[in-house]
Amino acid sequence: MVKKISEGPKPSLEKPIIIAGPCSVENYEIMDKTVKFLKELGVEFIRGGAFKPRTSPYSFQGLGLEGIEILKDMKYKYSVKIVSEVLDVRDLEDMLEVVDVIQVGSRNMYNYPLLKELGRINKTVLLKRGISATIEEWFNAAEYIALEGNSDIILCERGIRTFETYTRNTLDLNCVPVVKQNTSLRIIVDPSHGTGRRELVKPLSLAAIAAGADGLLIEVHPKPEKALSDGFQSVDFDEFKEIYTKVLDVFSCI
Ligand code: PEP
Ligand code: MN
Repeated sequence: MVKKISEGPKPSLEKPIIIAGPCSVENYEIMDKTVKFLKELGVEFIRGGAFKPRTSPYSFQGLGLEGIEILKDMKYKYSVKIVSEVLDVRDLEDMLEVVDVIQVGSRNMYNYPLLKELGRINKTVLLKRGISATIEEWFNAAEYIALEGNSDIILCERGIRTFETYTRNTLDLNCVPVVKQNTSLRIIVDPSHGTGRRELVKPLSLAAIAAGADGLLIEVHPKPEKALSDGFQSVDFDEFKEIYTKVLDVFSCI
């Protein structure tokens, strides 16, 4: 019986929640360049992973606390809100000083002790859908957080694993109206991980907004082909600007 996440009104948003930035915080220069560009465009939420949940242990694992320090500089230099993923509950205290929205990645959606801990903090939690999670399992994960007292949760559809291999994941836009009809939570869509292909990010961003999503999470990098993680699905500044402009147009028609 899922209850908490269905309580309370859902006021309409004036503008979509747009979270953008590189997959990983790689260094100060890349972050500075990216945040400057995004801030000038009007993007309020900046993302960047300091602790990276990589499939291979040999891949870049993130800068850790050094990455959090870079995010801190960005936060105060550009007056932006920071979104970053927590992997280990032991990092939470350090992260809370800087990060405005704590991301739970798809690999941790079933990490109930972590979810419970996030239910006791006073910050927004961005709960990504598990790689193979049903909508019901995802709602229950949100309920774990809400039951501890924190109902400030944004759900994020990031694609699920199916038999399809052309795309990295299958973006399940079905869940957007399902979330809207059954919960009082916000839902944003991540077409970067949902497709794994930068040329699909724009059409799926527009489709998500048209389906009623409250916003998007998009990976942006000044030189996607050089990115240390997820470059294949990251868009460059020109591509992002085009997507962002069209997204605002579509959002205003919904
Ligand atoms: C990410 O946002 O960079 C990430 C690792 O996402 P996911 O948990 O959806 O794979
Ligand atoms: Mn990524």
